[in-house]
Amino acid sequence: MQGFILHTQKVKDEDLIVYILSPKMLIKTYRFYGLRHSSILNGYKIDFALEENPSFLPRLKDVLHLNFTWIMQRDKMFIWQEFIRLLFQHLKDAETLEKFYFLLLEDCVKRFEKQNPKRVIIDAYLKILEFEGRLRKDFICFSCDEKIQNDITLIRAFLPSHNHCALGYNFEEKKIKDFYDNKNCGIFNDEEIQNLYNLIKEGL
Ligand SMILES: [Zn+2]
Repeated sequence: MQGFILHTQKVKDEDLIVYILSPKMLIKTYRFYGLRHSSILNGYKIDFALEENPSFLPRLKDVLHLNFTWIMQRDKMFIWQEFIRLLFQHLKDAETLEKFYFLLLEDCVKRFEKQNPKRVIIDAYLKILEFEGRLRKDFICFSCDEKIQNDITLIRAFLPSHNHCALGYNFEEKKIKDFYDNKNCGIFNDEEIQNLYNLIKEGL
């Protein structure tokens, strides 16, 4: 089967606990002598097999690293692994998962080939918010419960607020609407993209 490595945790000397996002679940597995195998890195997509172990975690074996065309581009890999860390924090307590998350990562990998990686992550995060029913399109301030006029301040999880109600980043309402309607952050300039990205780094 295939999956994305979301997290590794060293145990004993060289063994690893490896968390893998498969289409259906977050799998927690055990890998002997993990450090000798460079194919076990956060964010990598792998093909693998599991050997059931009734007394402990299933054992990870037959790992084959499925390469991304952009894997040697350090800036892209850095942003990818940053997103993977955030995603692990977000999903770590889940056992079964909708296929959505696996498909989303596959889509991001493809889009990373040609697009700005921060823009890819921002679009992906919007899809996560919408999928999880957390996207606030009503533009009611989360702090004072009143309608927001003109510019919208976004904070973590893209929660909307008035400029005077919270510390966040300001955006024009029409740009936010365009972004939410088209699921594409193309309307934003580079500074706005960096600000949205900073919000994502605070946690999914
Ligand atoms: Zn307010």
